[in-house]
Amino acid sequence: MRLTTSAILLFVSLLLSFSAPAQVESRSSDGAVVPDQYYLISPNDDWDLEKVQRAPADLWQHLGKHRASFGYTEKTYWFRFSLGASDDKRILHIAYPLLDDIRIYWQRADGLQQFYLGDTLPYQQRPLKVQDFAVVLEPSKYPSSVYLAVKTSSSMRVPIKVWTPQQFLNTELNSGIAEGLYFGVLLCMVVYNLFGFISSRESGFAIYSLYTICIGGLMLALEGMGYRYVWPNWQWLQAHGIPMFGSLALITGSLFALNLLQVREHSRFVARGLHGLIILAGIVLVLALFTPYSTSIKATLALAAPGCLYLLLVGVYVWRKGLVYARIFTLAWASLLIAVIANSLGYLGIIDSMFIQRHAIMLGSGIEILLLSWVLAVRYSEERREKMKAQSKALRQAVEMQQTQTKQNEQLEENVAERTFELQIALRELQEANNELERKSAEDSLTKLHNRRYFTQHLEKEFRRAQRNQTPLSLLMIDIDHFKPINDTHGHFVGDQILQQLAELLKGSVRRPSDSVCRYGGEEFAIILPETDAEGAESLAQQVVEAVSNAQFDTDEGPLSITVSIGIAEAVIGAGEHAENLFREADAALYRAKRDGRDQVVSSDAAQPLSKDEE
Ligand code: GH3
Ligand code: MG
Ligand code: MG
Repeated sequence: MRLTTSAILLFVSLLLSFSAPAQVESRSSDGAVVPDQYYLISPNDDWDLEKVQRAPADLWQHLGKHRASFGYTEKTYWFRFSLGASDDKRILHIAYPLLDDIRIYWQRADGLQQFYLGDTLPYQQRPLKVQDFAVVLEPSKYPSSVYLAVKTSSSMRVPIKVWTPQQFLNTELNSGIAEGLYFGVLLCMVVYNLFGFISSRESGFAIYSLYTICIGGLMLALEGMGYRYVWPNWQWLQAHGIPMFGSLALITGSLFALNLLQVREHSRFVARGLHGLIILAGIVLVLALFTPYSTSIKATLALAAPGCLYLLLVGVYVWRKGLVYARIFTLAWASLLIAVIANSLGYLGIIDSMFIQRHAIMLGSGIEILLLSWVLAVRYSEERREKMKAQSKALRQAVEMQQTQTKQNEQLEENVAERTFELQIALRELQEANNELERKSAEDSLTKLHNRRYFTQHLEKEFRRAQRNQTPLSLLMIDIDHFKPINDTHGHFVGDQILQQLAELLKGSVRRPSDSVCRYGGEEFAIILPETDAEGAESLAQQVVEAVSNAQFDTDEGPLSITVSIGIAEAVIGAGEHAENLFREADAALYRAKRDGRDQVVSSDAAQPLSKDEE
């Protein structure tokens, strides 16, 4: 509610700034003489100087303490005032650059001088090339009077001043510097931010530049500088520039707010308001292009103040929502609004400063432009900071992830190595157990010699090798003589002791590593002798027979003696023969040795076939 009231107040003050009457002084604050004036509103357009001069006195009204500001009117206003005598040249100055049609009649004792001014005429036709309207009054020895007829589609504002040329030049210079500075800043901001747009492709920079161009165009039109420097022969633009640039500035200003303040993300409703403002400004733009100035300027003024206020409120809203740089945006629009208010108060005569009247809007919009560029800078640097923060966070996370991954990999490798090691150990143990088992399965538990199973396999193996290499292979079958009575007499334990010691003796009697001593079963032993011929086998067998018969076997029953019988088979093996035959031959020889009296060696060569009764 409070906001609506202040919006209305602002709107009214803006309207008043173009139309309200103001206080009169004989000398204005900038040192110019303000003549005491009368004005007359001509009833119809065809009134000329003669008719005006003959008009009844009561048609003339004293301007008095009011400023010559009458708002928008289609009528022709006549002004008259007296000038004293002067030895020097004087400048008659109408300090408002937007008037369409001005006729000045200088009535001197020696004649009438006329001047035609106004921005419907090309700039080049102006007697003095300044933004406002001014003419040089030559020295005159007698007092004179001046009549002015003004008709304009702009606001009927006719601030008449009389200067010495020196004073006029000074104020022109000063305002020239101020305006140069202002437009210089604007130009820099436009170019700089266009570069920003080209290099970053961020639309914010482009919108800002467009907005600044529109504000610049508006100020060029308002100050009359556009007509002086930019479009001196383009009366159409001079006539339509203010509503055109004004509505464009509202459109680009709203776009800037939408873009920079992310209004849509904060409130769809507020964003819709901005869209509405853009549409209204678009309508005003169309009016500016296709309707007379008097129509479009009213539409522009009706939209300008509420529009600016809405933009300011959008800034406040987004600021309250927590967007920090919305503060600067708000400040920017506030500075423009304050300038408009100060300007209005100046025209209303509440602030009596020529500077404020002429330059407040320039100053306010200049500050606004600078602040808005600050908004841009903060926005994008903040965005960049956010981006960099996110990037470094992502990087940190990636590094952490990689470290974890590496750690996990290392752990995994360590575990695998440990498991592999354990597995290797287990395998080795298994291998050892297997070997042990293998050894055990091939070993005779009592004598620790190879057992019968081993004997059978090993004999087969050596048999084949001998067959392959065609080398001799000998087999000794050894049997203890009369062993049963020893067991029977002394017990099996003593028998076992003898078996063990005999095994040791047999092992000690073979020399080659390839020879193998086996327990065939009971008290029978076998010795396989690879690459050993009959002679060698016999000699070894003899040695064994002798060694056994000479030996004393330590037993629990005291030392005991035994003898053994040995049967030998020897062959260089031909094709198609079997290991079993060799064994049979040795066995047969053993039986022969038994038969022949025991304690002796019998070779298979000498072996006789066994007779039935001997078996
Ligand atoms: P021969 O001179 O004819 O060979 O007479 P022998 O008594 O030695 O022969 P026999 O085949 O009749 O007896 C073999 C004996 O060997 C029977 C058994 O008492 C004994 N013997 C067999 N195996 C073992 C053994 O592992 N330990 C012991 N202590 N004695 C065994
Ligand atoms: Mg036996
Ligand atoms: Mg025996």
